[in-house]
Amino acid sequence: MPSALYAFEPTGRRAGNRVGAARRSWSVRHARLLEFLYCRFERVLIASGLVLRWIGFDRLEAPVASIERAVKGALFDCRMCGQCILSSTGMSCPMNCPKGLRNGPCGGVRPDGRCEIDAEMPCVWVMAWEGSLRMRCGDRIRQPQIPIDHRLKERSSWLAVSRGEHALDGGESGS
Ligand code: SF4
Repeated sequence: MPSALYAFEPTGRRAGNRVGAARRSWSVRHARLLEFLYCRFERVLIASGLVLRWIGFDRLEAPVASIERAVKGALFDCRMCGQCILSSTGMSCPMNCPKGLRNGPCGGVRPDGRCEIDAEMPCVWVMAWEGSLRMRCGDRIRQPQIPIDHRLKERSSWLAVSRGEHALDGGESGS
């Protein structure tokens, strides 16, 4: 029996997660630098595709996902949705939205830019806009995102890029 009822699927964020909020704030403030680093990383991932395929994507999935979870958890408070769109959201992870919205904010953003569900939490989409203004390709925030595929949760977005399923730099999604 669950100890709490949710109007929306819990996305992993919990009230009082000040460390996670601080990480997300740092990432948004450094969105330009992170965008630059991601662009280079994407090229490495794509260039490594054939080698990774030879090793075996299935064999690599668990270890790479673990590394990705650790790195992106520390930097972005990542929830491992498996379909990263950080490059389109100002480096603000949308899966920290209590409603899990991936196409902009709901209508309940408070006048001070905080979440209607958690008054202590800045709206991830307000942060996404601020981060996008700092980015070279910040206009990507205007692109509609396809519905999330929950079957990909906990899987590595990085390997998906290597397989050619997502693009980090200039593509329709990014991680
Ligand atoms: S993979 Fe990207 S969009 Fe998905 S939860 Fe992690 S940081 Fe957020």
